Amino acid sequence: MENLIIPCKSRLPVVPPPSPTPQPKQDTPLEFTTRSFISLSRKTHPRMVDAHLNYLCNKGHLGEAIAVLDYVRQNGLKVRPNTYANLIESCIAEDSIHLGRKVHAMVDLVESLPLFVETKLVSMYSKCGCLKDARKVFDGMRERNLYTWSAMIGAYSREKRWREVVDMFYLMVEEGVMPDGFLFPKILQACGNAGDNRTGMLIHSIVIRSGICSYKRVRNSVLAVYAKCGELNLARRLFDSMEQKDTVTWNSLISGYCQKGEMKEAYRLFDAMQEEGTKPGLVTWNLLIVSYCQMGNCNVAMELMKKMESQGLVPDVFTWTSLISGFGQNNRRSQALDLFREMLMLGIKPNGVTLTSAISTCASLQALNRGKEVHSVAIKMGLGDNVLVGNSLIDMYSKCEEVEGARWVFDVIKDKDAYSWNSMIKGYFNAGYCGKGHELFLTMQESDVQPNVITWNVMISGYMQNGDDDQAINLFKRMEKDGKIKRNTASWNSLVAGYAQNGQKDKALGILRQMQSLHVPLNSVTVLSVLPSCANLIAINKVKEIHGCVVRRDLESVLSVANSLIDTYAKSGKIEYSRRLFDRVTLKDIITWNSMIGGYIWHGCHGSALDLYDLMRQFGLKPNRGTLVSILNAYSLAGLVEEGKQVFSSITEEHLIVPALEHYVAVVELYGHAGRLGEAVEFIENMPLVPEFSIWLALFSACRIHKNIALAVLAAERLLEFEVGSYSIYQLLLQTFGLYGKSEHSLKLKRLEKDALARKLLGESWIIRENKVYRFIADQSAPYFEHLHSWLQEIEEKVRAFESYDRLCIEEEEKEESGQIHSEKLAIAFAFAGECRTPRTIRIMKNLRMCADCHRTAKYVTLSYGCEIYLSDSKCLHHFKDGVCSCGDYW
Ligand SMILES: [Zn+2]
Ligand SMILES: [Zn+2]
Repeated sequence: MENLIIPCKSRLPVVPPPSPTPQPKQDTPLEFTTRSFISLSRKTHPRMVDAHLNYLCNKGHLGEAIAVLDYVRQNGLKVRPNTYANLIESCIAEDSIHLGRKVHAMVDLVESLPLFVETKLVSMYSKCGCLKDARKVFDGMRERNLYTWSAMIGAYSREKRWREVVDMFYLMVEEGVMPDGFLFPKILQACGNAGDNRTGMLIHSIVIRSGICSYKRVRNSVLAVYAKCGELNLARRLFDSMEQKDTVTWNSLISGYCQKGEMKEAYRLFDAMQEEGTKPGLVTWNLLIVSYCQMGNCNVAMELMKKMESQGLVPDVFTWTSLISGFGQNNRRSQALDLFREMLMLGIKPNGVTLTSAISTCASLQALNRGKEVHSVAIKMGLGDNVLVGNSLIDMYSKCEEVEGARWVFDVIKDKDAYSWNSMIKGYFNAGYCGKGHELFLTMQESDVQPNVITWNVMISGYMQNGDDDQAINLFKRMEKDGKIKRNTASWNSLVAGYAQNGQKDKALGILRQMQSLHVPLNSVTVLSVLPSCANLIAINKVKEIHGCVVRRDLESVLSVANSLIDTYAKSGKIEYSRRLFDRVTLKDIITWNSMIGGYIWHGCHGSALDLYDLMRQFGLKPNRGTLVSILNAYSLAGLVEEGKQVFSSITEEHLIVPALEHYVAVVELYGHAGRLGEAVEFIENMPLVPEFSIWLALFSACRIHKNIALAVLAAERLLEFEVGSYSIYQLLLQTFGLYGKSEHSLKLKRLEKDALARKLLGESWIIRENKVYRFIADQSAPYFEHLHSWLQEIEEKVRAFESYDRLCIEEEEKEESGQIHSEKLAIAFAFAGECRTPRTIRIMKNLRMCADCHRTAKYVTLSYGCEIYLSDSKCLHHFKDGVCSCGDYW
């Protein structure tokens, strides 16, 4: 009954006496014979139990050892502390917390439980990743020595819980235990990572006083704290005082300068290090390469890699990874993928970060095939089910519109996190599968991972994006009540951006108003989504209001916000506000300059646009495609054909950019403005691109203005070849052929008419008066018609005397002779009606291109009433002042 049969797989070794505890009398070494089992009974000598336990531990038969412990308990025996510690050590070696806990449960079997056994338990829990249990044992101890503290601090440091490591340091000093030369570096490492420079300095002074500072490791660790905390002066002083500098010393200081972006000094140190005879190691090279990549200076990073290779060092996975992600993030994505291939060919195994970088590069490029290649590499590496790699794969497949591929990856991922779920749901919505997205959302609620605020936001913007705003609003309302998830700014942004993208500007602005009244903080995303909705002449007050929020939230310093405001103010007719903001932006990028130059062009201010372009070049900035289009437009407006032509040839010759269609259109307009129609035609004939719709439309406009009916017909015939005709185009063509007496096109026109009629746009104008927006349509039956008509009749004759008809009368809108009065005229009349004073500035927005007659009327009104009119139509902004329009009568 009492016999326990223990299998004994081989000959047992001689076990030396394990501890300094009093030796039993029988001193002959125990020798187990080759029997396959030994049996333990009550009569078994206690020392034999210990010996047997040690034997089992050494052999790794932990399960059996625990069975022996059971036997020990049942027989009221005890185990020696060393034997027990040995058992714990074996559990650590086996990484089996399960067995470890069983051993811990029998801690009462240890004779007079000494401190080192408990410390061992702390180590066991910490090394097996059970920090809480480790702390529990630690807190329950009657006393603790340096080793106990080391074990506990080691546990926190292994889990990268730097703050707690520092806290432990203070606690141990309070208990009167001082760290030694091994523990100090660990605490200092935590200080550096937690950014706790103060504790670093304190330790520095302690180690100087105690003499430990002479240890190289300790000194290097103090230096690392200063470098990591950005205290480069302190770091430098310590560094200079150090007589023996090794690679670690140099690396710390170089990394400090790298972190601050002071690459010049970092590089200088790198040279100095070699001059002083310390060879830079792989870590040193990688430090510089990583920093140069992060700063977007990939070329220098690349050169460094070649240099390190020439010095006989082989770039490792970190070197390659930083280059791949550096190139990827700096818009040199295909080079990033080439590097990835090269790395594989050299036999360097990518890690998770490498794969994630490569995959997200493929996603940005929407390069499905290369993405699949990286995917197969990931599978070969056994990382196909890794959550980080998997998440980036889901994103890649979704962006490449391969939602099934994304789902396949999703299903394979072992430990899905919220990000995996969210990406997959988003993938479904992006592909238009709202049902599947919703289904997954429900499944997620049943899974171990609960929907978070991002999940709800993804759902809301998913429905918005697919035009189902009812569902989106429904979810928005439910998320707090049913989902128990507090809405954040991004939740509101989903609605704002959704409405703005669906063209429902008023609703977008309505949500914004709600956010303001509920004091939901706006962020740059809110502002960037809503501002384009306000980029028109009648929303200026809204723009000012949003700008107010931007200032209050301190968002003006966000460059993208400032750029968007510059653009919006220009489009709202407040170019002077744009300029003021532009001058305030200290670090301008190319978009800042383009927004301002484009704004000037929109306002017809070619002189200011060209001045700004000069200034931009003085600052050493290179123009991009957008800038060059604006500059061509500036020369058009100025009527400077030769200068414009020079700019056009500089696009390829100086700026090494292949001119795009928009540049060709701008040149046709350049000739068109100057009335050099023959050259325009010649230019079109010789252009290397196939002339598209916009080219012929530009020529057609030029012909209308310069009264060249024959050429207008030629352009009109080419326009007919395109299927994009809107009703207004149809209207233009019909009039052209009518004027020319050409009817053979009637057949084609008929076909176009059917198409176009469906898209017929009524002329509409909007005007703002006393903060209210009024809308006018060219309709005789409108209630305000009578009242405004009489005012208009009065000025009509004066307008005729003011300027005579001198252009081809081909207009987008039906002629007023049919009894209707164009909407913008009604709006102008409305601005005067009911006002006791003449308005100073009138702002009107129109959906179609203004006709010559209305243009003339507007000019006359500004001359005779001394006011200004801003009117934006489908072509450009007209700024009427003193009887002149900023478009130079070319629109
Ligand atoms: Zn008109
Ligand atoms: Zn004009």
